[in-house]
Amino acid sequence: MLRIAMQAKGRLNEESMALLKEIGIDIDDSKRKFLSSAANFPIEVLYMRDDDIPQVVANGTASLGIVGYNEVAEKGLPVEIVKELGFGACRISLAIPKNEEYNGPAWFNGKRIATSYPKILKDYLDKNGIKADIEVITGSVEIAPAAGIADAIFDIVSSGGTLVSNGLKEVEKVFFSQAVLISSGKLSEDEKNLLEEMLFRMESEKVSRGKKYILMNLPKASLEKAIQILPAMRSPTVMPLAAEGWCSLHSVVDSNDLWDKVRQLKAIGAEGILVLNVDKIIL
Ligand code: ATP
Ligand code: MG
Repeated sequence: MLRIAMQAKGRLNEESMALLKEIGIDIDDSKRKFLSSAANFPIEVLYMRDDDIPQVVANGTASLGIVGYNEVAEKGLPVEIVKELGFGACRISLAIPKNEEYNGPAWFNGKRIATSYPKILKDYLDKNGIKADIEVITGSVEIAPAAGIADAIFDIVSSGGTLVSNGLKEVEKVFFSQAVLISSGKLSEDEKNLLEEMLFRMESEKVSRGKKYILMNLPKASLEKAIQILPAMRSPTVMPLAAEGWCSLHSVVDSNDLWDKVRQLKAIGAEGILVLNVDKIIL
């Protein structure tokens, strides 16, 4: 049985649940407490605050976790990054009052910086040879300068709207993050096999995304040209048709290229073109 720690509620919860669903794992979420299991896969979900996820994975309470890379880096606990998941993108930046003149990172020398990410900030300051005081605040960091708690902040930024409404400007983009799948690195053989199965399904999902199945009737004389237009996974499927001199050609195309391919295929005589959605591609 695999146990995976995920954010109970917040920015990563929905997409973490969607990720499991996408790879065919049905979590019974109806009577959700702190643990839910899946009906069709030996996995259970442990719901936590995101701050606690690196710890429960590092100490083996959960074998896997889904959490922002920012939390992993901040906690500095021994966990392995198994995969970047491509959602929950954000950055942690330094911001200062908008009327201050900024002349580079040296501006921060002797200043007080409020943050919930003291470790990531300290690493940055040390690397740049800056001596500043770090004020650790766990919430509403952006109000710190106006409240006189600090001269600057180091906080998560996505659109920058919160900064502007607090009279701040972003001056250094320091750390880039996204959601990651982490592991304790102490998985049993059984758990390793289950993780492999999950990764295999995620890969198939990625390959299938944005793909269309296309089939058409084609004059046999145009076959060579059509195969060049449609380089399929191995090669397109060609089937004979009852009508003399015609065949049926099947292939898979990237939906971004679909209309361009259709135009080229029509130009070489393709008829009756059918385009279907692809549910799964298993390579
Ligand atoms: P919890 O109650 O679980 O502790 P939280 O308030 O600490 O939740 P959220 O605001 O839900 O955390 O953010 C979770 C993660 O989402 C962040 O650690 C970060 O990796 C990612 N994230 C993506 N965009 C943003 C953003 N604009 N602001 C904050 N976090 C973001
Ligand atoms: Mg948190």
